[in-house]
Amino acid sequence: MSGSEGSAAVLTVDLDALAANYRLLAARLGAAACAPAVKADAYGLGVAAVAPALWRAGARSFFVATLDEGAALRDLLPDAVVHVLSGPVDEAPADYYGRRLRPVLNSLEQIDRWAADPRAAAAPAALHIDTGMHRLGLSPGETARLAAEPGRLARLTLSLAISHLACADQAGDAMNEAQRLAFLAALDRLGLGGERVCRSLAASSGIFLGPAYHFGMGRPGAALYGLAPLAGQPNPMAQVIRLQGKILQVREIDRGGTVGYGATHRSARQGRLATVGVGYADGLPRSLSNRGCAFFGGHRLPMVGRVSMDLVTLDISDLPAGQAHPGDLVDLIGPGNDVDAVATAAGTIGYELLTRLGRRYRRRYVGRGA
Ligand SMILES: *Cc1c(COP(=O)(O)O)cnc(C)c1O
Repeated sequence: MSGSEGSAAVLTVDLDALAANYRLLAARLGAAACAPAVKADAYGLGVAAVAPALWRAGARSFFVATLDEGAALRDLLPDAVVHVLSGPVDEAPADYYGRRLRPVLNSLEQIDRWAADPRAAAAPAALHIDTGMHRLGLSPGETARLAAEPGRLARLTLSLAISHLACADQAGDAMNEAQRLAFLAALDRLGLGGERVCRSLAASSGIFLGPAYHFGMGRPGAALYGLAPLAGQPNPMAQVIRLQGKILQVREIDRGGTVGYGATHRSARQGRLATVGVGYADGLPRSLSNRGCAFFGGHRLPMVGRVSMDLVTLDISDLPAGQAHPGDLVDLIGPGNDVDAVATAAGTIGYELLTRLGRRYRRRYVGRGA
């Protein structure tokens, strides 16, 4: 039970499991590059430990969301290829190429801003073609305009063309193939067909749609961090995180006694409770109130009452007497209760649960190079 003194929770990140997930995805991708998405502080796991571990596992190309994230990653990995998905909006192109960061250009406006700087035009950049998400990337209209004025694209030094799938976690969804064909058609229209530029369509889920979706590069995030890539199918990924909360107090509750704010749980019997020092300020969703659970020594302990800012209460009445003491750690996310399961119980997805992991946890990195 060591390692938690001074904090009420321990987040363990298994860098060996992360590396194993990288190798599994890279093997799936075959000849295509496996380029991790490490945006949002590596989905909340801590980019300072995660990115070097992925580099050691063989990753050479990465994706982040913002220029700030790109600058931080450049400091961590001096030799990595770093793509910034937001593209230059109001930043100077020099802020990118000065750090050898590659923007993902998402619009004609971004293309023209980038190309107007001769040093930017000579630096590698990626192009995002929207094939149905309607978030970022060239619209079909913009693609047509760009195709009609080939000089605009010819000024750039394109190293990569990407698009992003909307429904890849549903393997049978017709939108997957429609987007793949739209991507190919747009590339053709822009004179980028065949192998003229590296192409990338698949994130985690897309990698599992098969080789037709791999092109030259996959961009996995979620699956690297242990989330299931395909809805409703067994999860082939190793679990990377374990979240343990410390029991602060063990107490009795009388039949009819209530727990927490709003008195939303009323005990039907004489029982025992354990109060654990993790709450919604730590990213434990408040929607787990009276719905979530923790595990301790193989026993499932239901959350009773509301999750509050720093605390959650467990019903430990069914634990054998003498078990569970202040200072003991219970599993909030871990064996028997993985990230996807906790997210489902909370009415959200694993992505949101991971990226909201609290800053207050004692973070412990285990595995190679930790
Ligand atoms: C976040 C992101 C990824 C990674 O997606 P996962 O589903 O986490 O694998 C890949 N490509 C783009 C454009 C993204 O925004």
